[in-house]
Amino acid sequence: MKPMFLPKKILDVLKIMKHAGHECYIVGGAVRSYLLNVQVHDYDLTTSATPNEILELFHNYKTLTTGIKHGTVTVIINHEPIEITTYRKEENYLDHRHPSKISFTRNIKEDLARRDFTINAIAYHPDTGYYDPFDGLQDINQHIIKTVHDPYERFNEDALRILRAIRFQSRLNFKIEDSTHQAMVQLAPTIEYLSKERIHYEFEEILTNAYCGQAIQNNIDVLNAWCGKSFSAHGLDLFKKHLQLMNSYHHITFPVSFSIFAYNLLIDPITFLTTKLKPSKNQVIQIKACLSSKPIDFQDFKSLKHLKKDYQEAFETVMLFHGILQGMSFQEIDKIVVSLEHEPSCLKDLAIKGSDLINLGYQGKMISFKLQECLNQVLDGEVQNTKEELLKFIKKAD
Ligand code: ATP
Ligand code: MG
Repeated sequence: MKPMFLPKKILDVLKIMKHAGHECYIVGGAVRSYLLNVQVHDYDLTTSATPNEILELFHNYKTLTTGIKHGTVTVIINHEPIEITTYRKEENYLDHRHPSKISFTRNIKEDLARRDFTINAIAYHPDTGYYDPFDGLQDINQHIIKTVHDPYERFNEDALRILRAIRFQSRLNFKIEDSTHQAMVQLAPTIEYLSKERIHYEFEEILTNAYCGQAIQNNIDVLNAWCGKSFSAHGLDLFKKHLQLMNSYHHITFPVSFSIFAYNLLIDPITFLTTKLKPSKNQVIQIKACLSSKPIDFQDFKSLKHLKKDYQEAFETVMLFHGILQGMSFQEIDKIVVSLEHEPSCLKDLAIKGSDLINLGYQGKMISFKLQECLNQVLDGEVQNTKEELLKFIKKAD
């Protein structure tokens, strides 16, 4: 197995820990990503040292203790935060999410045993290599998502893991091992115990990763059991087909992906969005814009300009939504969006202002009415967007 390449700041922490006689490993996403040749952004470190021992060792550095209740101390090295967490055991889960007791341990295996999937339960140290008591390396090689220990127990402890499994499938295109999948279906109703914020975060991740069409299709029985309904198999095929066209090119946004999901699979998308998830106001605006819009004729430049005016901030989302439904590629859609970049879309883009109309004797609502008329004329290509031409048009229309 190839040794991990580690940045100097991480090697420094490992050295300091070792010098003080503590174990310290890289763990979780960093190890998984490295082995899959995916760029590593965050290094999670796990150690036998207690939080107080970590604070003492790094007293010359700036440290943050916001996560100390869970055993995490953040050390700032060269202006960058590094999270170091004491080996932890979690016991007696309540409410399908929170352990009633977190205790520290000096045993790395116990820490790895509380982790969700075998592919996330590998520890690495440059001196000793990979420590892999749950065969995560094999599962990474074979592209398998499998819980550490009994899946039913692990999902029953924490229902978030059900969504995390789908999220990792959506990102990595791994297969979810059969008994893991079966337990996900059985315990899917317990997803309702999670906060909507948590569910939303995971669902957004699921819908915006490269293999989301496949992941949704593979886990439709989990979604059915969670939502107490039966999603249509035909709708699923279409959703997958639409998203496959996109994902090789582009990181799709949640409003676009959710709208395509809703268009193909949901009878009442806004109820789903507001009762199951916790979207931002902006996401709701964008999704409503997509689902209430009519199919777009991408050849009709004039109506595209009007569409830009009508949808404003949601314009690109609406274009992507319809473009994908029509089987266009991201590049094709993007090219059209870019070609409209300098087209006026609101009153402030006009070469005249309200004050010009006041000078002509207009008052009150008539000012914005006239400006709106000017904008439509410009979008229709009837009048040029110059002060001279617009004033000429207004005077002529009087
Ligand atoms: P990402 O690239 O999305 O950050 P990650 O594997 O680093 O992936 P995190 O959510 O950052 O995932 O969690 C870090 C590690 O903590 C995981 O790799 C896993 O070992 C463990 N973990 C996180 N959430 C859970 C959970 N709900 N149950 C058990 N272990 C978890
Ligand atoms: Mg992470």
